[in-house]
Amino acid sequence: MYTYEVAQPTATMLLTEILDQETGLDVELQSFLTRDLGLVMKDRGELASRYARDPGNPWLVCALCMAPVILVRTMERRFHFRHHPRAEAEQKCSISTRGQLSAEQINCIKYNAAKESAAHLRLKGIIRDSLIVDEQCSEPLVEKVWKGVRLADRAQWRKPDVQAELNGQRLAFEVQLSTTYLTEIAGRREFYRANNGAMVWIFHSFDPSSTRTSEEDIFFLNNNNVFIVNEATLARSRVARRMALDCWYAIPHLRGKTIIDEWVMEEVFLDQLIVNAQEQKVFFKDYDTLRAELLSSVSSDRARQAFLDFWMQHAATDSKESDEAWRTLREQMKTASPDLPLPSDYRMGKFHGAVSIMLSARFGHPVGYNLPRLLNVANTAFDHYKGYLLAFGWTLRAFANEQLLADQDAKQTWQRRKKLIREGLERMDEAYRQDRSYNHVIAFLIPEIKEKLAHGREW
Ligand SMILES: [Zn+2]
Repeated sequence: MYTYEVAQPTATMLLTEILDQETGLDVELQSFLTRDLGLVMKDRGELASRYARDPGNPWLVCALCMAPVILVRTMERRFHFRHHPRAEAEQKCSISTRGQLSAEQINCIKYNAAKESAAHLRLKGIIRDSLIVDEQCSEPLVEKVWKGVRLADRAQWRKPDVQAELNGQRLAFEVQLSTTYLTEIAGRREFYRANNGAMVWIFHSFDPSSTRTSEEDIFFLNNNNVFIVNEATLARSRVARRMALDCWYAIPHLRGKTIIDEWVMEEVFLDQLIVNAQEQKVFFKDYDTLRAELLSSVSSDRARQAFLDFWMQHAATDSKESDEAWRTLREQMKTASPDLPLPSDYRMGKFHGAVSIMLSARFGHPVGYNLPRLLNVANTAFDHYKGYLLAFGWTLRAFANEQLLADQDAKQTWQRRKKLIREGLERMDEAYRQDRSYNHVIAFLIPEIKEKLAHGREW
């Protein structure tokens, strides 16, 4: 099951001037609200969480009245901003978004009513019974107050559906209800975060092809992991004497420049889950890390392409335009690969020669040199860059360009020189010692020889 959804704003919006208090910049609404759904849902949760943590220091505010805002998901699954209900009550803004509050208020009422529905009671029972048979868990407590660390927080004390302790970690189990609404979720997240507890949301059922806002508010902030218990998991728990759950999780895949999610269901045990109380995540599969790795591979591919484009277009020339293009490339590389500093001038020292020789070996024709053929580059390397001949050879081999070079060598000069190089390397001649000064850049440009560069040959 694969999913990919881009968030969409509502056709018209009452609040169009939103200010980011952190950057001091206006929020570009169209682009903010038309990103991958998971990113927008995460920000929706983050906005509510920050407000729950510190209402006096909101992240996004209405630029007209400076009141905190909330990000609303409509019934049609579209997004728009509204004043926070508390600010709306004070009516300080010239724009009123008040009339649209009823849906959320109704949800709040429905939430409390749904709390004790039959289905909810049944799930609470399954969670409790699964924990009772789990030999690693403390005795579960049902509907008992989880006291906050400070007495002053008494007003915010929570009463989780079920709580237990596993290997010193306190866990609060909450049953996800169709109407659990964001303010409630954010309030709990912040309470358990402050109290070093972790929340395990338990769903009745889950269908990745049609998810509801009330489900997305939970799983997008929980590493795209969803947990389900039922009679079958309880039976598994009893056999294994460990609490069993069904876990739905997403695996990110790259399709062109887009990341799509593959949803997989796996039977897991509670003690296999990774608990991060600070980030309020309890998960089996680390989606966020996998996604970040995918994105960073994309950004280094792009940076590599930008470097190659520069070298092909500018490195053989010497102009103001080239200097300007190099400055731009260095800025780009600083963001994409901060651990790969480039010299201020691409003609500096042996940098230009080292890079040009490697890229020529890779592409099978001169790159960065105004020379006719690869053979001329090979001879330049022999005459002036002996310290790079090893890497030159590895690159030729990696890209199957050895024969091409041999074909150009009608007078057999390269053939003779190859013999000299081999002898030089064998007797560990100082002149042929591998120059490692630009190993980082070469490994970045030609990842195919990264391993060889790292091991090298030293004498
Ligand atoms: Zn306003």
